[in-house]
Amino acid sequence: MKIICIGRNYANHAKEMGSAVPSEPVFFMKPDTALLLKNKPFYYPDFSKEINYETEIVLKINRVGKYIKKKFAHRYYNKIGLGIDLTARDLQLKCKINGLPWEKAKSFDNSAPLSKRFFDKNKLPDNINFYLKLNGSKVQTGNTKEMIFSFDEIIEHISKFCTLKIGDLIFTGTPEGVGNIKIGDRLQGYIEDKCILDFEIK
Ligand code: MG
Repeated sequence: MKIICIGRNYANHAKEMGSAVPSEPVFFMKPDTALLLKNKPFYYPDFSKEINYETEIVLKINRVGKYIKKKFAHRYYNKIGLGIDLTARDLQLKCKINGLPWEKAKSFDNSAPLSKRFFDKNKLPDNINFYLKLNGSKVQTGNTKEMIFSFDEIIEHISKFCTLKIGDLIFTGTPEGVGNIKIGDRLQGYIEDKCILDFEIK
């Protein structure tokens, strides 16, 4: 399986990063070794001093597809969960400055904590509320109506380039409010007031 992540899909996050609002979805990938499951702790790696949380709604693909049209895209995912796109911001910045791909800043082991629970897409409202608590305080809040590219537009775009397969995950971008994690922190992710992700930084 593969993990496809969308960058800059919320205008206010693009602004806080000093990035332009994109005219088409920006995507990158994480390997399966990035998955951190079952609320296991994240161990802070020694290659970075600035790891950011980015809280994102995650789609689970349930059909194989290529060149999927937007109007049919809803048939290709059935479950919705929450993930954190952990990002080594210091490494990413260095790569950006040098015009290099920023893969290593995004794809390292355990950089994709994923909720235990996924909701049936039909059980959630069209506009999904989600948020992250850091040590008990809400630090990021989003609603999918604020996305620049909808789930269906994202699927149409990605599937022009990459065949989507059953079990693939799509991280759909973070709202504003990204910030640093440190050892001892507790992160709790919510969809519609249900805590479905809860882990510690060690
Ligand atoms: Mg992200």
